[in-house]
Amino acid sequence: MGVGVRKYGASVYRSQRWAAVRLQAKRRDGFRCVKCGASGRLEVDHIKSVRKNPELSFDLSNLQSLCSGCHARKTAIEVGIAPLDPKRQAWRDLLKQKVTTNA
Ligand SMILES: [Zn+2]
Repeated sequence: MGVGVRKYGASVYRSQRWAAVRLQAKRRDGFRCVKCGASGRLEVDHIKSVRKNPELSFDLSNLQSLCSGCHARKTAIEVGIAPLDPKRQAWRDLLKQKVTTNA
């Protein structure tokens, strides 16, 4: 079962239908990242994973245009790499500042 699903997912990205629906999604989003509004190189992302919802692979309502930065962030969260806690990030920034002021 697992292997079959994986194969299905890969075939979605290779199909002509995907190329067409991808363009439709970008056009709908005005060729801008829906998260940060960046234009330029965009990737079309499945809001709900194709692995879990293969029937939504070509569903425009399940697609969003993302810049590579926002897409990478979303993918990282999906595979379980949570973004750094804001408090920890603040602590890190503070440490960095200390290092530079001491030097
Ligand atoms: Zn973005």
